[in-house]
Amino acid sequence: MECEHARTALAAQVLGTLEEPEQESLGMHLDQCPACHSEWEELLGLLPLLDTVMPYELDGVPTPDPARAVELARRAEADRE
Ligand SMILES: [Zn+2]
Repeated sequence: MECEHARTALAAQVLGTLEEPEQESLGMHLDQCPACHSEWEELLGLLPLLDTVMPYELDGVPTPDPARAVELARRAEADRE
């Protein structure tokens, strides 16, 4: 897997949309490529942020209240199942 492809796959992985065979090649690339690996860790650090931001965007309602953000995140998760 090329770095360019790996970066795209990383984003998909974070969003939970990466296909299984891709996950495997991404994992192998991350093992061999320190640059992509640190990119991955950076994305992981953004995950908690995504959890609060995405439901906000989906609902189109401002969520200044963290408890409400958590509630929306749970609902978004339930919707996915
Ligand atoms: Zn790479």
